[in-house]
Amino acid sequence: MKYSIIQPEKRFSNLQFKPKIESDGQISSSIFTCGKCKTQVSFDTDDLQEHFGVNKSILEDRVKCFFDQVRPLDEIKWEYFFDFACKNCGMQIRIIYQPWQFGLTVYGFYITYVIEIDASEL
Ligand SMILES: [Zn+2]
Repeated sequence: MKYSIIQPEKRFSNLQFKPKIESDGQISSSIFTCGKCKTQVSFDTDDLQEHFGVNKSILEDRVKCFFDQVRPLDEIKWEYFFDFACKNCGMQIRIIYQPWQFGLTVYGFYITYVIEIDASEL
């Protein structure tokens, strides 16, 4: 499989996701634009929170294993991933992100890498 590692700012409108804090109730969101077909999808802090500490993927096992091999997660940096496929063109996408401590037990997240596999390469 042929893959590309992309600088996340080329795909996301915003790389920093703030947690929901009681005082303002705001969470951060960011628009992802598919590098192939330009379809847009919105993510927010809750989406990343949901995958935090979870080693699960919605993609096929072989794709997940491939992503794991080509760009292993750095456990010391507490990296996690979020896998999805573009709803329009089927691009297989992995987002790698890290937490940053916002409060004593509250974390925000920032996106560090995007890895893509074109559906025609599967
Ligand atoms: Zn697409």
